[in-house]
Amino acid sequence: MITVTDLRKVYRQGTREVVALDGVSMSVPKGSIHGIIGHSGAGKSTLVRCLTLLDRPSSGTVTIDGRELTNVKDSEIRLARRRIGMVFQHANLMDSRTTAANIAHPLELVGTPKRDIEARVQELLALVGLDQFADAYPAQLSGGQKQRVGIARALAAHPDVLLCDEPTSALDPRTTDEILDLISELTNRLGLTVLIITHEMNVVKRICDSVSLLEAGRVVEHGPLQEVASHL
Ligand code: ADP
Ligand code: ADP
Repeated sequence: MITVTDLRKVYRQGTREVVALDGVSMSVPKGSIHGIIGHSGAGKSTLVRCLTLLDRPSSGTVTIDGRELTNVKDSEIRLARRRIGMVFQHANLMDSRTTAANIAHPLELVGTPKRDIEARVQELLALVGLDQFADAYPAQLSGGQKQRVGIARALAAHPDVLLCDEPTSALDPRTTDEILDLISELTNRLGLTVLIITHEMNVVKRICDSVSLLEAGRVVEHGPLQEVASHL
């Protein structure tokens, strides 16, 4: 479960203040998928940066399963970040590393023992349906397969929350559906809490349980998919 409470972020540009987030609140239960939609400039990237601790909010809190994320000390940021797995528009894989080695990378960074990494990588390959591609390089994979690697890598360290930032914007419609169905299946299977930032209504309609519509740093509509979708 992730809870965002009255999040504000004010950027200072010289003497001018830009209010990027103006009291954003939302709550997403474990096992469900929440869509965040909004036009350019609405505050989506700022929200992502605050959730991943790349940026500190000016005020307000984010908690995951009751533990506050926003008040961790700088020295604990790296550890706290592991509670959120990130999926991006482009998987940003390392071209010189195989699928397995790309998935292993975040675990290597945190010093997981080699034997544990290998077992976990096998598990993740099976989870995203890439068992047959462990030794393939990114150049040998389709766009959808690369995104599967990205998802496996995001899940490697057992995060509670999966934060997907425009996860299908670079994919064709068929691959989009395939990746969304995978995210949906993993949400149920692993009991994840999922946030999807997107500008695509079809994404929201296919897999989100609930939605927030962001406008000028504020949530102007929120609720179950059926309710919100009927206003859009
Ligand atoms: P979105 O991702 O929905 O397009 P952003 O979070 O990027 O929206 O931006 C929200 C608002 O905050 C915009 O008005 C943008 O210009 C402003 N903003 C974002 N980042 C900065 C920054 N580093 N400095 C000043 N203003 C910023
Ligand atoms: P690099 O040469 O880029 O460091 P490696 O081939 O050494 O990449 O792989 C990095 C890590 O990825 C390995 O230590 C291992 O833990 C994991 N790994 C590589 N191939 C597999 C595989 N087929 N199954 C499971 N884990 C693998």
